[in-house]
Amino acid sequence: MTTARLIQGADLAGAGVGDLLLVDGVLAAAGAGAAEQAPAGTQRVDASGLVALPGLVDLHVHLREPGREDAETVETGSRAAAAGGFTAVLAMANTNPVTDTAEKAEHVADLGRRAGLVDVHPVGAVSKRLAGEELAELGLMARSVARVRVFSDDGKCVHDARLMRRALEYLRGVDGVISQHSQDPRLADGTACCHEGEVSGRLGLPGWPQVAEETVIARDAMLAKHTGGRVHVAHVTTAGGVDVVRWAKSQGIRMTAEVTPHHLALTTDLLTGFDPVFKVNPPLRPDEHVQALREALADGTIDAVATDHAPHATHDKEHAFVDAAFGMLGLETALPVVHEVMVRSGLLDWADVARVMSSAPARIARLDELEGERRQGQGLVVGAPAHLTLFDPSAVWTVDRDASLSRSRNNPWHGRQLHGVVQATLRAGRLTHSLLPDLPAHTQEDRA
Ligand SMILES: [Zn+2]
Repeated sequence: MTTARLIQGADLAGAGVGDLLLVDGVLAAAGAGAAEQAPAGTQRVDASGLVALPGLVDLHVHLREPGREDAETVETGSRAAAAGGFTAVLAMANTNPVTDTAEKAEHVADLGRRAGLVDVHPVGAVSKRLAGEELAELGLMARSVARVRVFSDDGKCVHDARLMRRALEYLRGVDGVISQHSQDPRLADGTACCHEGEVSGRLGLPGWPQVAEETVIARDAMLAKHTGGRVHVAHVTTAGGVDVVRWAKSQGIRMTAEVTPHHLALTTDLLTGFDPVFKVNPPLRPDEHVQALREALADGTIDAVATDHAPHATHDKEHAFVDAAFGMLGLETALPVVHEVMVRSGLLDWADVARVMSSAPARIARLDELEGERRQGQGLVVGAPAHLTLFDPSAVWTVDRDASLSRSRNNPWHGRQLHGVVQATLRAGRLTHSLLPDLPAHTQEDRA
């Protein structure tokens, strides 16, 4: 039986208003003439006023399973991702146990398939147990069924230059990339919990200097140049870090970078209330850095937006600021925040958003080379898998942490007004999230 949907009158990611015809999980037609090709029995969906974006891809999420299912599971994280417009996520390796073998990577991929809402691609650890001493099973993970292409000790920096060099040399052979948490542990006090500067001095909090990030990015640029390997800078937060990435790209060095929505929007000033919801690693930075990050995302120096969605159980987060866990939720608010700080400000248009939140991250993780419905980041192109996000930019809502689909509540946007709501998400033509009356979620074929 054919399943067909005609999405009518949407803004096609900046390519003008038109229709999208989805047939059996594939984008069968796009633009003005799509309606004529609709087979009998096609479900019609009024999408006027909505922006149609290709399914979003998140290079950086923490799904906490296995090990901290009290904070998040692959299934609850997948629900939050679908509600945020995502059709694929990369799940970081700092679980318990750490994803440092092919078997553990396949286990995470399997949990993702069972949840069945977004493609969950495990990130492999660079070092065994994230200890920074011995390389993990990089080749076996790459060649496993989980087909790992992104490797990271995220949460920790691969700070041993020799280990980083060997990993880069090794991963060249499997076209893998190292997503680096760029932060020299030797330049930061072990108790550091925020940006080192005027605010940390005033509040008496131990800080991380920005140079701890900048020096690692600079070193990694030179190691990438030397080895010919690929380095991806996870969550860049500093103006100096951006300058290094810009220089590296100008030299043809294989370096890419991501920025989080929270680092694009929130500043160190929020710490004056000592609310641990704003404690995050790397830390929020002063406004001059935030402005530099926005400009770098607009000019292409930063390739992608990634959430660093980091759920924490309340008993880990509700502590005095210095003792609380690092991290904040991000999947359900990412697109509204990017809309607000980048699109409404005129720095990006919708075609750019499709690039930084879908095609570029898919390319970095090599998800654009997969076969069939797991192929991501193709854009709204006829013949591509029908991964689609429908976004209403005119809706205004107040974030309520208790309405979140994540299992955790550490939401830095709680109580704030955001502009724009993800109305529906489809992965390979199947609904994974919907608020639209025309598109009731969980119909029979969507459960198939
Ligand atoms: Zn990190």
